[in-house]
Amino acid sequence: MEKKELLGLSKEELSAEIAAIGEKPFRAKQLWQWIYFRGETDFAQMSNLSKDLRAKLAENFTITRPKIITEQISTDKTHKWLLEFADGQRIETVYIPEEDRGAVCISTQVGCAVGCKFCHTGSQKITRNLTAGEIVAQFMTARDAYGEWPSPTNETRMLSNIVVMGMGEPLHNRENVFKALKILSDGDGIAISKRRITLSTSGIVPHIPAVATELGVKLAISLHAPNNQKRSQIMPINDRYPIEEILTACQKYQEVMGMSRMITFEYLMLKDFNDSLGDAKELIALMKKYKLGAKFNLIPFNPWPGCDFKPSSNNKVHAFSRELEAAGYEAPIRVARGQDILAACGQLKSTSQTGKA
Ligand code: SAH
Ligand code: SF4
Repeated sequence: MEKKELLGLSKEELSAEIAAIGEKPFRAKQLWQWIYFRGETDFAQMSNLSKDLRAKLAENFTITRPKIITEQISTDKTHKWLLEFADGQRIETVYIPEEDRGAVCISTQVGCAVGCKFCHTGSQKITRNLTAGEIVAQFMTARDAYGEWPSPTNETRMLSNIVVMGMGEPLHNRENVFKALKILSDGDGIAISKRRITLSTSGIVPHIPAVATELGVKLAISLHAPNNQKRSQIMPINDRYPIEEILTACQKYQEVMGMSRMITFEYLMLKDFNDSLGDAKELIALMKKYKLGAKFNLIPFNPWPGCDFKPSSNNKVHAFSRELEAAGYEAPIRVARGQDILAACGQLKSTSQTGKA
């Protein structure tokens, strides 16, 4: 009989597995702690379980990490892993350290079906969704590398935040992504607070309110243009879910989460396309109309081989930022990290073992 993988099971599912091998429910709690609080992958090391039980668990189950194919560390300490799963499919995960904390950027799909014109991942067609276990395992692999087991207190964590901004559109894989984020935020295990998790989406309207009602994590929207005409040129998905519908869904998110839970609008600065003061003014009018608790994140375009877009000049980006700030919106300019190892936003891409996209 093939062994069952435990990573990615919900608490209820783990309990059911434990019951199925004839063990008491509290064993499931102990096991959860070993897996997610201590980061243990070897049943033999689970010292508060009897020898017999440890053997029984090892006969029936596995706790697997993806295979690390390559690991690169940028001159700015950004750390990128190319990870391979059991079927040979590969994705990338990135850790972006700050002074005394840092974010792990996780992927949700192999490739992406949205096909944004400026995105390296989007140039690679969708192969498949990642499972909840594969999503959780990315964060755990990063924690392994920095030895952050057992789960340290909030204050001392270097891997303190999670951004769902790697490869893939998370709301095209809602079920697995939500399940994974529930596991990652569970207080008995990895315990990353929902306030430190940000889900970024290209705007899959029907699933946006659930980010508040089912999950309660922070929301970021990849807007990148002040009107539909421009947005559709760079993000074909805009024809299906135009800006007005996205912003209405954002209002629903904020009705549940409260206005103080700001939504971040990511805005990629593309030279001579969306970076004029006129564009900024149009953006401000749009935001005022929908009365959202919003802030912006201006993203310098990160080039990749084969893409025709050019980054806006520094002057233009700063002028754009000042315009938004004068209208009362925070609009920091994102510092590109890990560019020398192609680890920055929109640069992730990978090929599978077979060389197929
Ligand atoms: N699919 C989701 C999350 C992954 S992309 C989304 O689109 O929101 C994470 C962020 O990187 C998005 O804001 C995306 O627009 C941005 N991005 C994509 N390509 C980029 C590039 N070449 N340079 C800078 N940012 C890019
Ligand atoms: Fe997919 Fe996001 Fe890239 Fe667009 S920007 S292609 S949605 S990963």
